[in-house]
Order: sequence, then C-alpha cells, then structure tokens
Amino acid sequence: MNASGIIVLPNEIINQIAAGEVVERPSSVVKELVENALDAGADRIEVFTENGGIRSIIVTDNGSGIILKDLPLAVERHATSKLKSDEAGKWDLLNIASMGFRGEALPSIASISRLTLTSRAQNTNETWSISVEGAETSTPKPASGFKHSGTRVEVLDLFYAVPARLKFLKTPRTELQAITDIIKRLAMVNTKIGFLLFHDQKKILELKAQKDDEQGGLNRLSEILGKDFKENALIIDSKREEMHLRGFIGLPTFHRSAATHQYMFVNGRPVKDKLLAGAVRGAYQDLLAKDRHPVLVLFLTLPLSMVDVNAHPAKTEIRFRNPALVRGLIIGALKSALSEAGHKSSPTLSQYALGKGKLESRMPSNKHYFYQGGNRHQKPLSPQQQHMVNGFPIKEEAIFNPNTISAGKPHKVQNMPMEEMDESQDKNKTGQESLNVSESNQTLGDLNADFPLGMARAQMHKNYILSQTHDSIIIVDQHAAHERLVYEKMKQELEAGGIKRQALLIPEIIELDTSEVEHILEFEKQLKESGLVVERFGNRAIAVREIPALLGKPDIKRLVKDIVDDIARFGEAFSLQESLREICATLACHGSVRSGRRLNLDEMNTLLRKMESTPYSGQCNHGRPTYVEFKLSDIEKLFGRR
Ligand code: ADP
Ligand code: MG
Repeated sequence: MNASGIIVLPNEIINQIAAGEVVERPSSVVKELVENALDAGADRIEVFTENGGIRSIIVTDNGSGIILKDLPLAVERHATSKLKSDEAGKWDLLNIASMGFRGEALPSIASISRLTLTSRAQNTNETWSISVEGAETSTPKPASGFKHSGTRVEVLDLFYAVPARLKFLKTPRTELQAITDIIKRLAMVNTKIGFLLFHDQKKILELKAQKDDEQGGLNRLSEILGKDFKENALIIDSKREEMHLRGFIGLPTFHRSAATHQYMFVNGRPVKDKLLAGAVRGAYQDLLAKDRHPVLVLFLTLPLSMVDVNAHPAKTEIRFRNPALVRGLIIGALKSALSEAGHKSSPTLSQYALGKGKLESRMPSNKHYFYQGGNRHQKPLSPQQQHMVNGFPIKEEAIFNPNTISAGKPHKVQNMPMEEMDESQDKNKTGQESLNVSESNQTLGDLNADFPLGMARAQMHKNYILSQTHDSIIIVDQHAAHERLVYEKMKQELEAGGIKRQALLIPEIIELDTSEVEHILEFEKQLKESGLVVERFGNRAIAVREIPALLGKPDIKRLVKDIVDDIARFGEAFSLQESLREICATLACHGSVRSGRRLNLDEMNTLLRKMESTPYSGQCNHGRPTYVEFKLSDIEKLFGRR
C-alpha cells in the first residue's frame, strides 16, 4: 500500500464500526430498541427473544410509529427525529430529554444482522415495512397486523455479518440474563409502562403498568427486587440546589457479593457511572467488608444542562458539570439515612432464622457470618500498634459502666438479682429460684419495654445477650456490638484530633506512570489530611515523606498503588481512608469484649442503651449484624399458636 492510499470507507463498514461500540451483545440491541419505544411514547413494550437473543430479538410497541417517508431514514446513519436546531439554526447537545439522539442504533444493528422495521404511524391506517440486509435496504412494502399505531423491530441472526464477535458472547442463559437485567432497569424508571419478555416461547418477565406515583413506583420496585428489599430498605429523598435524589437503599446487613444490584438513574436514564459508584462506596465505606455490596436504587434528577449524556456511545456513562456537588449530595443523603437508621439491622435476618427463607443468598456464608469469637479479617497487631491500643481510651468500663450513660431512662434494674444462664451457674440454681427471678424481672421489663432493644434478661454461651421488648425477643452478639461501639468512638476521636502523621527517616520513592503521578498529585491535599504526605519526584515517581502514624509500618508501595487504582476506578482515593479504618477496626476488635466475658444485667443493659445511641450499631464493621430480633407474633406462629 502506498503512502497516499487513504480511502473513504463504504457505509456498511462505517456502520459495522459504529456497531462495535453500540452493540456489545444482544442485550445492547434490546436496550436500544426498548429506548426507541420509550421515546415513541409507548405504554406497552413486548420483547421476544430466542437463543439468548442471538437467533432473534423482536421488540413491539404501541408508540407513535414512523411515517412512510421516514422509514428509510430511520435505518440511515446519523438520521434522527430527536434533535432539532432552533430558529437561529443552532444545535444544542446539552439539553437532551430523549433516550436517543445519535441516530446510530438502527443502522448499526442493521449492519450486523437481518433487520426488519414495521410501523404504523399515528393518524394513519397503513402499515409499512422495510428490511435491511448487508448493504441492501429494501423499498417499503405494505404490511399488516397493526390495529393501532406502533412499531415492530425484528433483528435476526445477530452478528452473522461479523462472526468473530460471536466468539465473545457468553452462553444463551447469560445473555438472557443481561437482557432481563436491562429491561428491569428500564422498567424501574418507567413505572407506567407495561413490559413483557419472552425467551424461547417462555414468559420470563411480565410487569404490569403501574400508576405514575410513589406507590406505583414502589410496587414496580418490589416486583423487580422482591418484597425483601422493601422491608430492608431506607427511603432517600434529598434535595440540593437544583438536584433531587430519591430512591431506596438497602440496610448494610442486607448485602450482596456483587455490585450488580445497584441501580442508578440520572434523569430517567440507567447509568453505570464511576462517580456514582464511588459515592455509594464512600457512603457505605466502613459499614461493609470490602467484598460486599449494598443493594440500592437511586434516581437522580437534575437540570439537563448540568449533565452531558453525550459521553459514551451506549450512553451508560455520563459527565456531570459539577461532580463534587453530585458526590456531596449522594454521600450526604446516604450517610444521614444510614446513621438515622442507627442500630437497625435487617429484619429479613430474623425471617431467615425462623426458617422462612434461604439464608445463603443474602449472607456471605455461614462460616463468615456466624461469629467464631474472633475477627477473621484481623491481622496480628505489630508491637507499635499494640502500644497504640493502649494509647486509645478503649476501656471496657466506658461502655459497660451504667454510670456513664447520659441518655435514656434511669436504670431500675440495678439492684435486681442477676439472671445469668451460663451453664456453670445454672447448675447451682434450683428450678424454683430461676422462676422467681424471671417473674420479678417480668414486671420490670414491662416498665422498660419501650427501649428499642428492650431489657436484657440473660447472657448465653458467654456471648449472646437475650433481651425482651414489649413485642419481641432480641439476641445480641455482644462481641460484634462492642466492636462497633469502640470503633465509632475511635473514629470520632480520629476526626476530632486529626490524623497524626509520622515522618519517614528516608522518603520512599515510588515509580509510577506519568499520568498516575499527575493523578495522585491532584489528591495531594486530601491525602495530607488523611496523614499521607507525597510530593513530585521527577516526572515518573513520587516521594512519600510522611505516613499516618496509626498505620505502623505499612507496605507503602502497595498502599500508593492501591490509591492510584482507586483514583482510576472511582475518581478518588479510598485506600488510605480504608487502611486507616481497617486499623481502627482491628484495634477496636482487640479492645473489644471478647465473646466469653460474663456480663451482669447492668452491664448488658448499658451495652444495649449504648447501641441505641450509637450510629451504625446494627452491624459490626464487616456488615455482620450485631443483633437479631424475633417478633413475638412470628414466634407464636412457629409454635402454632396463631
Ligand atoms: P435515535 O434513537 O438516536 O434517534 P435510532 O437509530 O435508534 O436513533 O432511531 C432512528 C429514528 O427512528 C429515531 O429518531 C425515530 O425517529 C425512529 N424510530 C426508531 N424506533 C422507533 C420506534 N420504536 N417508534 C417510533 N420511531 C422510531
Ligand atoms: Mg435510538
């Protein structure tokens, strides 16, 4: 080939290149076609698929339809009815209210499949059909089958024209799952539209049209996410400037192993955005283990001009004009909802414990979930850190001494005989004595029944506190609960006193890519606040001069690399905060009452009252619950009393 061999590519190839970006897999086709139906104002959308969408995808809607003269244009590249210029001939790409605007989907899909577009336009009584195969677009032909306006797009043999792409597809089952997922996402924001999905003649999903109000929205969400979610979710409704964030976020104890159950929408558009994902992670940061993820649905609305949707061909990524503002709104709203929920832990847990559901699907695994008395995430403390433990006021009395309680009711239990059911003590008690004790406690419990975590009755197996409220029985894992209390306290102290730094005798030089150096230096100030002092060391390295004293002797290189990765993935530096929190958690765990420490009733009640007044005390630092509540009504059902 000679040096001036530049040619203009044929349309078919141009479209196939565009398809490479827009159509990654069958679900991308479904997304584009359903979005077109939504833009056409349909209120019923039906999707029929075969063999994971590879053999066929047919989407039918009852929207406004396409007039005859527009049919050939619809499959023409860069032709759209969704962008208009104003009187002065100016085009505005920043005020896009429709899902589509690129005029690219139909020609791209047509270039790699056999596509037929059939439509009956509003206020006409004719149906026309057009087909595209390879470079050939047929002339429109009369068709039938439409009783009202609407459109049907048939996509057969996807990727037949680019067989290499077929090799990148997963099994039909996985592709169907992706199709189902995208329809669910679109259905979450389009409540008043009915959706139907068939695969190989089997009905996979049917979502009836709902009212376009809050109740309708909730109904749709519970239909998609299950009743569990509704019971385990907190409501978010928060405004800042012209932005409005609504939605539902799962309690930290209702976590999953993948972030796939996070549904985020910006101005009605489902998005997978790293800024949003980062903000969510930031909000849940110290409530969940690193590998667990909350379930949530968030709808963000903001003026069209504050967001640029023209950032990605598939339009799942967006750009915010003021990312910091969006981030602040999300973190603020989520954190305040989570801390208001305070000691709340997932009600579903007790449902599972009562045998009403399958535990495995929600919990990491029994082995991780049930406390073994120690912290499995815990690293041994270095001598320096042990010293730090002593430096911290992690005194058990601070939490267990009834006199340190400021809020809540005066304790009437103080002179009550202890009702300890540990094996050793039990042997010494006669049945009669035990009965007396519990009777006298009964009246007392009723007086205090309005504490959310009730009144302690007994400690069992040296770690579980049994308490009673007016309508339930609660079991508290004292170790997990105490760990959270100590941890929250340490965090407060960290925040109040600032993070102490420790200078390195010899600065550590870490080699990075030029862009990584620039990225990390953008966060210089924030890192310093968290105790890490870095500076430029030429173009391809940074020097670390000071580190947070709490970290002891960390692997600085790894820490910096983690931070660089975070910045790339989330646009911010989590790792340092996370390492600090991890240390706090480890210290907290060491400073916490181990399971196995006997508590008397006063101490137990003090712990319960502290839990009620401490943020996030419904779960320990790894998202495990600190207590489980059994409603009396459920227990009665269990015994056949109801
Ligand atoms: P875009 O949606 O970005 O405009 P598409 O290639 O997806 O680009 O569609 C091209 C045009 O075809 C749309 O602008 C619209 O006018 C028309 N169209 C596509 N699908 C439908 C449909 N289901 N109902 C009505 N019109 C449609
Ligand atoms: Mg479109």
